[in-house]
Amino acid sequence: MAGSQITIGNVRIIGLSDAVLAHPLTLDWLFPSVPAEEWEGYRQGYPDAFVGPGAWRVNVGCYLIRSLDKTILVDTGIGAAGGEIANSFKIPGGGLLLEKLRSLSLRPEDVDVVFLTHLHRDHVGWNVIQEDGRRRRTFSRARYIVHQADWETFHRPEVQAAWSLTHLEQAVTALETLGGLELISGDLNITDEVKAIHTPGHTPGHMSVLVVSRARSAVITGDVIVHPAQVANADCAFGFDMDVQGARQTRHRLLDRIEAEGITVLGGHFPKPGYGRLVREAGRRYWQAL
Ligand SMILES: [Zn+2]
Repeated sequence: MAGSQITIGNVRIIGLSDAVLAHPLTLDWLFPSVPAEEWEGYRQGYPDAFVGPGAWRVNVGCYLIRSLDKTILVDTGIGAAGGEIANSFKIPGGGLLLEKLRSLSLRPEDVDVVFLTHLHRDHVGWNVIQEDGRRRRTFSRARYIVHQADWETFHRPEVQAAWSLTHLEQAVTALETLGGLELISGDLNITDEVKAIHTPGHTPGHMSVLVVSRARSAVITGDVIVHPAQVANADCAFGFDMDVQGARQTRHRLLDRIEAEGITVLGGHFPKPGYGRLVREAGRRYWQAL
């Protein structure tokens, strides 16, 4: 979904997929409460979200938002070739984010804000790069916005051990000394049209991005909803939700708001083009690509 884009009022949102990968874990493990018989319907409705009969085809999506002269990057993917994160996903060539920025005639230093929905490894990969044996911020002029609750939780040794957060030191903690880090604890207006909203559960400091301009609106959900199956079945937990009950409540609340206000939905891991709307059929909500 390189360069696929949508306009919300005066705001442009461009999907920049850093990678697409077949998730190594089974659908049963990832989405334990989806009944086995439901998957065939999702396979037919969202063929790009599957590899073969039993694997999730994950779009590692980042988004670029242009709003009021600001360039905002939402999440930074799996990162460079040879990095710990790209290696852990067995993607030898690394992620494509910088190439895709280049195809838009943008340099990393053109990014004003790096907004991290949360600190899982597939969302922070390009935060920091190694150059001549030294680390530096990839987006050298940007503020990096992270929720305080994620920063604190992910730095607890027992949490790192329980969730194998081996990427943290290199891709996240390093920001503390490299500059630009901005920890926030509530909602935040990034511009008058783009707002960070706290959507906890998947992680304690998880945030989504709400865009409102000229009576139109869109939300980049992050991992509140990772698969269209969770739109139809909002109770459905995701295997990496750190607080299953909290994530479920947030998912219900966000989907109710999306439906009530007719908000366009952009999922961080949704199949191309990544954006769509909610439709209701036979009493159930579904995500429909636009
Ligand atoms: Zn994710």
